Amino acid sequence: MKHTIRLHDKFFKKYIPHNKIKKAVKSIANQVYNDLGDKEVPIFVGILNGSFIFAADFIREYPADCEVSFVKLASYEGENSTGQVHELVGLSEDLTGRTVVILEDIIDTGNTLAKIYDIFEHLPIKQLKLASLFFKPDIFKKSLHIDYIGISIPDKFIVGYGLDYNGLGRNLKSIYQIKAKTMKNIVLFGPPGAGKGTQATSLKDYYNLVHISTGDVFRYNIKNNTDLGLLAKSFMDIGDLVPDELTIKMLKEEVKKNLDTAGILFDGFPRTALQAKVLDTFLTKKGEEIKAMVALEVDEDELIKRLLKRGKTSGRPDDQDEEKIRNRFDEYNTKTAILKKFYKAQGKYYGVNGMGSIEEITERLKKVIDKL
Ligand code: AMP
Repeated sequence: MKHTIRLHDKFFKKYIPHNKIKKAVKSIANQVYNDLGDKEVPIFVGILNGSFIFAADFIREYPADCEVSFVKLASYEGENSTGQVHELVGLSEDLTGRTVVILEDIIDTGNTLAKIYDIFEHLPIKQLKLASLFFKPDIFKKSLHIDYIGISIPDKFIVGYGLDYNGLGRNLKSIYQIKAKTMKNIVLFGPPGAGKGTQATSLKDYYNLVHISTGDVFRYNIKNNTDLGLLAKSFMDIGDLVPDELTIKMLKEEVKKNLDTAGILFDGFPRTALQAKVLDTFLTKKGEEIKAMVALEVDEDELIKRLLKRGKTSGRPDDQDEEKIRNRFDEYNTKTAILKKFYKAQGKYYGVNGMGSIEEITERLKKVIDKL
């Protein structure tokens, strides 16, 4: 089963695997059996809809004779009173003198539970016990006693194993937890030599982000003579962009490895319209998004000066020759610059003056990123 799933408009990530749930169910069944013993046949009452899977698994773990029934709590406006009237639908068994164990899938505030208790307490039963597979202690407001609890969880919306989100998700074997768009994913943008790599180094530490520089990944692969490196080298050496297919495949692998982080700082990606679209779709599928494109704006003359200076020490062939540098600008102006429009249309474009000292520019970038 996938790690992140989508139900209607929301994203959920895997939270409690099926085997852990199975263990909890078995443990509750054994605890109930230890308390009740063989002397009587209990009747387990599942509260629909959510508990149908829990109840089905539970009774098959119960090591002695038992009966099972299901009820639904219906509520309607009373005719002569203003408050809500609650009643159980579906209970046809005679419970006189019986031990009743209620099976709930989840107890959060305890409001439903209080109503169920109220109804059962007025029935002529021998004893009432309550088992809940999941329990949210942080929001439980009642002083009612819960006899058996499977797994306590924080107050976050969950689906799966019988629980739904607007009707969907009940058939998932594991439990999934709602996922907020938590990552601070930023595209650091600008022409070659704008200082993206330099700024990324301080920003990633300051914001605890993962820095993905496609140029660095390609150079690493070239150094290590990988297939990817060999393919990319011929394009990079003359200042051409590496073909989209290759770049996108590599980038997706890098992003996949870093989805559980505070965010990703993209440096040198996307560089074409197709790359930007693919990145958007890919992140959406994972329940994430690009928060902003932050662009360093620098004059072209200054850029050439910076690149030639860097070429003396970086060892990069594409930095050492003005013709190759000009070709990189051409690539930037024809294929990459249009991305400003793409992110502007989404209200995510932030231009930052990239002239001045490294520290000055870092401060300008932080001012933008702090507000995201
Ligand atoms: P950089 O280190 O960002 O200046 O990138 C150096 C070179 O790597 C570029 O000139 C391209 O040849 C290649 N490259 C880096 N990122 C990309 C990308 N997103 N798409 C295509 N080629 C790229």
